[in-house]
Amino acid sequence: MTIDCHVHFISDNRSEGSFVSRQFKTSLTYRILASQLGVDIRMSEPEQERTYLTVLRRQLYQSKFVNYAVLLGLDATYSDAGEFLPDRTPIKTSNKTVMRLAHDYSEFLPGISVHPYREDAVDKIEELAEAGAVLCKWVPNTQNIDGTDPRCRRVYRTLVKHQLPLLTHCGREHTLPTVDQSLGEPTRMQVALESGVKVILAHGGSSTLQDAIPTVNATFRLMDRFENCYADLSALLAPGRVKVLRYWLTRPEYHSRLLFGTDYPVPMGLQQVLFGMDYRVSQMITSQHSYFDKYFLTLWALGFQEVAFKNAIDVLGPATQQWLQVDPKPTVLPAKALQAQIGGRDAVL
Ligand SMILES: [Zn+2]
Repeated sequence: MTIDCHVHFISDNRSEGSFVSRQFKTSLTYRILASQLGVDIRMSEPEQERTYLTVLRRQLYQSKFVNYAVLLGLDATYSDAGEFLPDRTPIKTSNKTVMRLAHDYSEFLPGISVHPYREDAVDKIEELAEAGAVLCKWVPNTQNIDGTDPRCRRVYRTLVKHQLPLLTHCGREHTLPTVDQSLGEPTRMQVALESGVKVILAHGGSSTLQDAIPTVNATFRLMDRFENCYADLSALLAPGRVKVLRYWLTRPEYHSRLLFGTDYPVPMGLQQVLFGMDYRVSQMITSQHSYFDKYFLTLWALGFQEVAFKNAIDVLGPATQQWLQVDPKPTVLPAKALQAQIGGRDAVL
């Protein structure tokens, strides 16, 4: 059973509190993501959302390896004083939107996002945990969250009470505009870890540019100290993270702390070429129809251990079981499937 713990949904459904700012909508990043999804930005807002949803569901439906996706909410940006900053918020994907989608489509699990500086943060998390949230997501650099801020402590206590993990962006953020890049440093999560929160550092607990490897090393140090420290595999196939991917492959002793995640719809790079993969394996990956299968098989072929693809079920919140009761398709064992794929190729060649 593989769950993708890191899938984004963008919505401009303002009646549910979601929105995409006018400024972000005209940015190059948004245009690249839109074209990747087949969304024409001249479409009406409901049509854009429908298209995004259709493309995402098709990719998941076609996937032979990935059964479920955690759809991530993204709360707004707040000031240090706890005021909502609409002008600094590029995207807000409301908890109402992700809860609705999880109820409507059996392949989605709800990943909520609640800013810890909000006065009602604890009440919101309580309410959403009861409603079936499986994790809480932060992008500190964009939302303006300092994980060491004293206001976070009450939030950490609530997360621990409901056994909800905190999936938090790690390192520099390049897709969304930011308030402060240093807020993405993994060491800012030390207080959460000391409080007993299961912290999942996104993107292999890495950063980009010259900080890439030192940031992963900081993540490894946290993993050495705290058994509740995890990382996900999201965006590690993005073109800028090749060095990080290579580094993770040299440290299999930490693979049991990894969760499968993609960062859909962030595009992936040319790892088959860059890592000199066998031609047949590379062809087999390229021939997959589903984004999720391309991502899964690339990581599998590179040598990430099986545990990393199955971990999510044990790390996500207890409500996960409630959503999985309606398993929409049979589980394919990755090892067998990969062998079958290569075997099938051999037979054809
Ligand atoms: Zn992401």
